Amino acid sequence: KTTFNPTVIRKDFPILNREVNGKPLVYFDNAATSQTPRQVIDVIVDYYSNYNANIHRGVHTLSQEATDKYEQARIKIQKHFNAAKSHEIIFTSGTTHSINLVANGFTSILKAGDELIVSAMEHHSNIVPWQMLCERTGATLKVIPMNEEGELILEEYLELLSDKTKLVFCNHVSNALGTVNPVKTIIDAAHKVGAAVLIDGAQAAPHIKADVQELNVDFYTVSAHKMCGPTGVGMLYGKEEWLNILPPYQGGGEMIAEVTFEKTTYADLPHKFEAGTPNICGGIAFGAALDYMNAIGFDEIAAYENELLEYATERLLAIEGLRIYGTSENKTSVISFNIEGVHPYDMGSILDKLGIAVRTGHHCAQPIMDFYKIPGTVRASFSFYNTKEEIDILVEGVEKAKAMLL
Ligand code: PMP
Repeated sequence: KTTFNPTVIRKDFPILNREVNGKPLVYFDNAATSQTPRQVIDVIVDYYSNYNANIHRGVHTLSQEATDKYEQARIKIQKHFNAAKSHEIIFTSGTTHSINLVANGFTSILKAGDELIVSAMEHHSNIVPWQMLCERTGATLKVIPMNEEGELILEEYLELLSDKTKLVFCNHVSNALGTVNPVKTIIDAAHKVGAAVLIDGAQAAPHIKADVQELNVDFYTVSAHKMCGPTGVGMLYGKEEWLNILPPYQGGGEMIAEVTFEKTTYADLPHKFEAGTPNICGGIAFGAALDYMNAIGFDEIAAYENELLEYATERLLAIEGLRIYGTSENKTSVISFNIEGVHPYDMGSILDKLGIAVRTGHHCAQPIMDFYKIPGTVRASFSFYNTKEEIDILVEGVEKAKAMLL
């Protein structure tokens, strides 16, 4: 039991007051995107109302104010993830952009015969950019298998590692199953054979405060919109040594030292990877979202979300014919389920009529669905602003839908 008070917290989220199809909104699609608190919305309004300007190149006051706030946000992100240096934090448009930046950078480093290792439970954004990299370089992709509980089989991972392994990538938390992966073990084992590791933290970041130095991870990626920030902004953490080795991803303004038609030289980190005008307001709001979540406290958030997870798991499992995919002891507040004989899409549509937002489908993780031989699941994912009363509404809704569909 925690002392956490969701009633107070909910007042920060204006959207939670709205109705959907004449019913109070029950928002259980947090793994896709989280809702935005007033404190972050205020920062966005303040930016466009008071100091909207392009950064890094203006001598005028507004430009300097915007630059200061944007760079302060970078430092907030650095502190939050405990990066050693602020220039190891690269602003991106989100996890997808971050992963593509790294995958592109390895094009000139890899050669035919090199091996990359991916886990069986990745989001497509942590599979496809690497397959494209393999096509460009002749490297091959190996897969760490998983078990029925939705956990990676570590013994098989260790077997896959060799001196041919150059890169390993894996999510910290699976968006489709909620499994928390043993990333420290994965990283340490990869380093023993000299491979670099990218951890996709998109789904972990709303629940777990990762310490990139303690993990000793080479790259870590996050999307702000999954942790109370806006869409279209995120970060790539990279160890300075790696970011110095990787070539720039995009060319353009802001990322150069000097440009002539004969030869262009590149700016220092982090600007080398930040071509063009970035999502300035988004970056500042990302910093505000971290402030907001840290003021509540990640331990408090995790403890409360865990209570919600346990309660929902118990109540849903009491429904006959319901199966949960992802039953590891180590999981965040995500429940992926199906009812025997019911298509997830039909379940999702009926729940929507009842004001309940869940996600249905393959959750951009088709290999997981193939593993379980299902077309998709219904996924309810909980955040710290959800309540047990809302879970009761979900359970009632699932029972109602089941009665209608079977
Ligand atoms: N990885 C994981 C584990 C995710 O859950 C997501 C978002 N569903 C992504 C990557 C991609 O994030 P984005 O769409 O914000 O780039």
